[in-house]
Amino acid sequence: MLEVQSLSKRYGQTTAVDGVSLTVPKGSVTVVLGPSGSGKSTLLRLIAGIEQPDEGEIRWDGEPVSGPTHERDFGLMFQTHALFPHMDVATNVGFGLAELAPDLRRARVAEVLAMVRLASFGHRMPDQLSGGEAQRVALARTLAPDPRLLMLDEPLGSLDQQLRKELALELGELFAELEVPVLYVTHDQGEALALADQVAIMAAGKVLQRGAPEHIWERPASAFVAGFIGYENQAESNAAGGKVSTPFGPVSVDVADGPVVAVFPPDSLVVNRTGPLSGMATMVSFNGRGYDLRVASDGTEFELTSPERYSVGDQVRFAAVDNRVLAYER
Ligand code: ADP
Ligand code: MG
Repeated sequence: MLEVQSLSKRYGQTTAVDGVSLTVPKGSVTVVLGPSGSGKSTLLRLIAGIEQPDEGEIRWDGEPVSGPTHERDFGLMFQTHALFPHMDVATNVGFGLAELAPDLRRARVAEVLAMVRLASFGHRMPDQLSGGEAQRVALARTLAPDPRLLMLDEPLGSLDQQLRKELALELGELFAELEVPVLYVTHDQGEALALADQVAIMAAGKVLQRGAPEHIWERPASAFVAGFIGYENQAESNAAGGKVSTPFGPVSVDVADGPVVAVFPPDSLVVNRTGPLSGMATMVSFNGRGYDLRVASDGTEFELTSPERYSVGDQVRFAAVDNRVLAYER
């Protein structure tokens, strides 16, 4: 098990990683989810030993880990897979296995290529691979030395949306087969949901919340975390006597009296011709199945979806279908 405790790394005035604590249990997939610049790559580089922390400790099964990168037995795969263009797939995958006898090396390469479902690709050159295949070759190369921890830094970042979805599902299956614990970094909440046993939400160098994805999506720790994971509809409000006032009446919440941010779960507000609320469409975009609307109502902008087309400036009526509202002290 990997344990990271109070890890910090500063670059001049920037604290890239700020007191991060994290565990990656055996046989689990931990996803660090955070916006660009939140310190995710720095965290992985610290764990890999490419960078040295200013504070804090990294332990494996209770033992401090502080040696050089090659002694750590941690595999790290980057977004840019950077296969050697002049070497075939098998040679790329076997690159880190120089100490093995040639027949053992060949066997190991065949084994990991089969794991990533590219058993017959050994003789292909990198320019004969699709983006997704190249990514799987890079993964095979990372797995070849049999690391005790697998770290992936936005491995699907350079691929298009459709391929990302497909590959995230494939990766999920692969991770389930692997014994090795996985620490996976992404800014994409869909990937995090698809893959994680445990999610750590990171922003500005700090871990803001950790837990099972179901738990985090059920009860985000702050309005910021909620917004980041897709609870886009938020409004300033007030709580009094255990209720918060919302555009559709008072709703019970578990927060102290005073100014709050009311957060509406995704899909809890729907366009409805006879709905009690109304506003003006300020943005309309087609999403393939219907329309994404931004609707300004009483000083708050709501994100809604509609099966019917509206134009900017139209009045839009809407309703709450679910009176679950989360409230956070302001
Ligand atoms: P992420 O991977 O989440 O996008 P990074 O870990 O790459 O974030 O960066 C976190 C912060 O640290 C950013 O503000 C970035 O500019 C800064 N940073 C990262 N590496 C360096 C470096 N080698 N020198 C100076 N600043 C850095
Ligand atoms: Mg990064």
